Amino acid sequence: MNLLLIQKIYLSVIIFLFGIVIGSFLNVLIYRLPIGLDFKKGSSFCPKCNHNLKWYDLVPLFSFIFLGGKCRYCKAKISPQYPIVEALNGIFYVLAFLFLCDGKLMPEMAGYFLILSCLIVLTWTDFQHNIIPDSMWICVLLGGIILYVCDVVRNGFDLEKLLERIIGFFLVSGILLILGLIFTKLKGVDAIGGGDIKLMAAAGFALGWKCTVLATVVGTVIGLLFTVIYLSILYKKEQKEKGIDPKEERKKAKEAKAKAKKETVSYETNSKIAKKVKAQRALEEVNEDEDIDEDIDLGLDEEENEEDTGREVPFGPHLAFGIAFALFLGQRILQWYFDMVVDKLLVQ
Ligand SMILES: [Zn+2]
Repeated sequence: MNLLLIQKIYLSVIIFLFGIVIGSFLNVLIYRLPIGLDFKKGSSFCPKCNHNLKWYDLVPLFSFIFLGGKCRYCKAKISPQYPIVEALNGIFYVLAFLFLCDGKLMPEMAGYFLILSCLIVLTWTDFQHNIIPDSMWICVLLGGIILYVCDVVRNGFDLEKLLERIIGFFLVSGILLILGLIFTKLKGVDAIGGGDIKLMAAAGFALGWKCTVLATVVGTVIGLLFTVIYLSILYKKEQKEKGIDPKEERKKAKEAKAKAKKETVSYETNSKIAKKVKAQRALEEVNEDEDIDEDIDLGLDEEENEEDTGREVPFGPHLAFGIAFALFLGQRILQWYFDMVVDKLLVQ
């Protein structure tokens, strides 16, 4: 094996370990930022038994594995969120090192690490509490400024590159802001959160406008896909809780229809029992009306419950996914796009 490869693997392991240590700090942020707790004060404790945790309970990733995902003291299950955030952060750092910094130690790594860690934190806080903390989008912007300064030091000042970032800051965030204002005026609801808009402004500076558009498209497509899946799962769950099986319902409706048809035929063909059937149908109609009343009642209940059960789907996680996607692959995809598609069209 050549020396360079060994060096790369060695550095990757070190960076992964550094990533999971930062990842365990991110877990503290995810827990404390949305509820306004100071993340600098106080030692870690088990939320179930309040037992203070020792350093050997807090070794990132490894403690979870050795303790079998349970608290050492009360055997309560530890949320898989902790190891997932730690591992994800470690993997992101290694990917940034290998693919964005070409496997070399570069000052740009600080910018990439900061942005990626913030994306992880805000994904969780937005998912759990519908909050994107201001400190998170500010740190994404800071990461973007670090990347920009590194580029200027390395390659010199380029007005075009600066404009690319400044347009990035205003473009998608501006569109979201206008859409949000229109929605608010028309429907009277805040359809687009202020956190989403600020996040896209910060990401716009970090990525440049082209990659930010890509991030928004990818994030929106993923978001819509997840929303459809999420709502259909929720709907099925609701039906199940109410004891309504959709298949059974459809079967019942079909049977009722067939029965009605039969009766109509007999009503038309047999004049002798026509009166009797007519009376019966009238009675059924009254019953049906009662059924409809019940349906309306249920419908109203559902609408009232919507806000309480938090059916609103947070969009921050999907935007964060789009931003991470564009950060890792955006330049390559844009390069390919302009080489293959635009150049070919121009030649033709
Ligand atoms: Zn415990």
